[in-house]
Amino acid sequence: MSEAASDVARPEASSTVPLNGLTVGPFQSNCYILGPTAGGSLVVVDPGDEASRIEGAIDAIDGALAAILLTHAHLDHVGAVAALKRRWDVPVWLHPDDLPLHRRAAELGAAYGLAIEQPPDPDRAFAPREPFVIDDLSLEVRHTPGHSPGSVTLIGGPGAFVGDTVFAGSIGRTDLPGGDTRTLLEAIVSQVLSLPAQTRLFPGHGPETTVAAEAATNPFLSGLLEPCQRCGTPLPHRLAGCKGGHCPGCGHPYPHGDCSD
Ligand SMILES: [Zn+2]
Ligand SMILES: [Zn+2]
Repeated sequence: MSEAASDVARPEASSTVPLNGLTVGPFQSNCYILGPTAGGSLVVVDPGDEASRIEGAIDAIDGALAAILLTHAHLDHVGAVAALKRRWDVPVWLHPDDLPLHRRAAELGAAYGLAIEQPPDPDRAFAPREPFVIDDLSLEVRHTPGHSPGSVTLIGGPGAFVGDTVFAGSIGRTDLPGGDTRTLLEAIVSQVLSLPAQTRLFPGHGPETTVAAEAATNPFLSGLLEPCQRCGTPLPHRLAGCKGGHCPGCGHPYPHGDCSD
């Protein structure tokens, strides 16, 4: 690498983008504030409730709010969107498969006895393979349905924002409209556990965890994984036993098997 090249901003600089979090509302939802980026931008993920607290946290950081990102549209993740949007008028991002839920947020909140201000329709649609990029922060978008049809996992900066897809020691509920357990488990195995083992996971509720910790100890996932014969990396059963492929940890090849799942 030449002297000059070392001055060029590199993508891994995003790992230094600061992360702040606060837990809001009766469902104890995690709201994350990413930034400031190199250009002074802030991004808020899942402003679920307690808008004035979130505004205070944003005000306390030397940066300008540039976007509101939603991992999914359940009412406990969108309850402060309207207030933030009113103050800053920045684009709101959501996967389109959660738009029907989004449009019913206030109605569903009322069913829980909660006064949720109906958020305006999102401005932008998340699409897999189209990363969200702002300054030195780049977030890969992975569609991880099952908890809700349009749930996404946003990967970049300090780790992966998984919403209610997977938690420390648990998984998202699938008994709400549009939920499906098999879809959720498939998404977790293929889209989340396939990340590097040390990746930090920031869930929509509860403490942060890692890919390695959930692969090793999450009781909902244990039957879906088996250790690589060579290096021990937990592998999806369909990779090690059915569809064949290579261990992402060591490259050990697995032949195509004959089981049905
Ligand atoms: Zn949810
Ligand atoms: Zn939630």
